Amino acid sequence: MKGFIHSIETFGTLDGPGIRYVLFMQGCPLRCLYCHNPDTWFLNKDKEVSAKEIIEDYKNYKSFLKNGGLTVSGGEPLLQLDFLLDLFQRAKGENIHTALDTSGITFKEEEKYIFKLRSLLQNADLVLLDLKHIDSIEHKKLTGKGNEEILNFAKFLSKENIPTWIRHVIVPGITYKEEYLLKLGNFIGTLKNVKAVEVLPYHNLGINKYRELQLPYTLENVKSLSAKEAEAAYNIILYGMRETLNKR
Ligand code: SF4
Repeated sequence: MKGFIHSIETFGTLDGPGIRYVLFMQGCPLRCLYCHNPDTWFLNKDKEVSAKEIIEDYKNYKSFLKNGGLTVSGGEPLLQLDFLLDLFQRAKGENIHTALDTSGITFKEEEKYIFKLRSLLQNADLVLLDLKHIDSIEHKKLTGKGNEEILNFAKFLSKENIPTWIRHVIVPGITYKEEYLLKLGNFIGTLKNVKAVEVLPYHNLGINKYRELQLPYTLENVKSLSAKEAEAAYNIILYGMRETLNKR
């Protein structure tokens, strides 16, 4: 099975446990205003690889990846579900730790889709779920689409008991608001499979890519989030989670 990829990072330290081989897939239906990888948005078919080639390449780096594994990120990897299925099945055959970094935007309650998704998740050790905004109207302003399917995907992962890390980018003036962080924490508290919550402070380091691609960057005047603000945001999310857990 072939997939269309953007790039490969062989020493990733940000996308899952340990040192990881990170495969960035091409194509994404969202348009997050802070996206660092706008060059992954379109499903251009410049770089095509097979799942077998990726696993063979992974083996070249195996010695220093032994406490990490393979992460598939993007773009939105679930756009190429058949390829992922092949890749993760092969990876598990080689005893490689697998992580899927997704926004969950492609989720749909269709029998055929759910069947494939379940097969994929049976071969996924971890899902990194990027929850962009807890409020659907604000989510649409931030990413171009509402969050209903994403929240349904989060509930599905919980029901299937798939180990999940929740990731949330904190953007001053957009997601850095007590009301939203609390609500997000309340929602995460309803999930039974969450192993970690990561707060990712907004910064505008991706801005040059927008210039190269001649795309508008609308957050130019938004300040980066400080470490202190990130900590405060994290604590509000935890507080919201506890509120829900205490009601159980
Ligand atoms: S989901 Fe990821 S790749 Fe897609 S627009 Fe958002 S940040 Fe960019």
